[in-house]
Amino acid sequence: MESTVASKLEALSKLQSIDSQLDEIRRVRGDLPEEVQDLEDEIEGYEVRVRKFDDEVAGLNDSIAQRKQAIKDSESLIRKYEEQQQNVRNNREYDAITKEIELQKLEIQISEKKIKEAHYQIEQKNSEIEGTKHRLDERRKDLENKQKELEQIVSESQEEEKKLEEERQKATTGVEDRLLSAYNRIRKNVRNGLAVVSVKRDACGGCFNTVPPQRQADIAAQKKIIVCEHCGRILAGVEQRVF
Ligand SMILES: [Zn+2]
Repeated sequence: MESTVASKLEALSKLQSIDSQLDEIRRVRGDLPEEVQDLEDEIEGYEVRVRKFDDEVAGLNDSIAQRKQAIKDSESLIRKYEEQQQNVRNNREYDAITKEIELQKLEIQISEKKIKEAHYQIEQKNSEIEGTKHRLDERRKDLENKQKELEQIVSESQEEEKKLEEERQKATTGVEDRLLSAYNRIRKNVRNGLAVVSVKRDACGGCFNTVPPQRQADIAAQKKIIVCEHCGRILAGVEQRVF
C-alpha cells in the first residue's frame, strides 16, 4: 500500500516525539553523573588539603619537641659551665666560660621564640583544617544526595527508556528507509535534535526563520515533503494561529 505524504509526516512526527523524550531522559541523566564526578573531585581535593595540613602540624610539633630538647641541653650545659666556673684558675678561663653560658642563653631565647612561632602557626593551621573539614562535610552531604538522585533517576528512567525504545522500534517500521536516514541525518546535524518541526507564528519551529505564506500553504496541503530552506528540517505542518 502506497502511504500518503500526510501519513509519512505523521509517522515522522511520532518518531520525533519519541526521540525528543529519549533525548530528554539522556540529557537529565547526562548532567548528573558529571555533577557527581565534580563533587567527588572536589572532596578529594579537600581531603588532600586536610592531610597536608595534618602533616604540617605534625612537622611543627616535631620541631617544638626538638627545640624543647635543645633548651634542656642548653640548661644542663649552663649548669655544667657554672660548676666549672667555681674551679677556674684565672680570669681568662672565667670569662671564656661566661661567654659560653651567654651563648647557651641566647640559644634558649632563640628556641623559645621558635616554639612560640610554631604554636601560632599550629593555631592558624588548625583553624584552616576546621574550615576545610566543615566544607568537606557539606560536600559529602551534597554528594550523598546527588548519588541518591542519580540512582533514582537512572532506575526510574531505565523503565521509561526501555518503553520508549520499543515504541521507537515500532514507529520506525512505518517510515521508509530513505526518509528514515534523512531524518537521522538531520537530527545529527541540528543542535536540539529536532528534525521534524511545525511552522509556528509564520516561522520555522526549528530555526525561527520566516516561512513565506505560499510555502506555508504548500506545507499545509501535505502534497509533498517540504524542508526548511534555512535549516533543512522537515516542516510537517502549520500550527493554526488563534485570532
Ligand atoms: Zn528552519
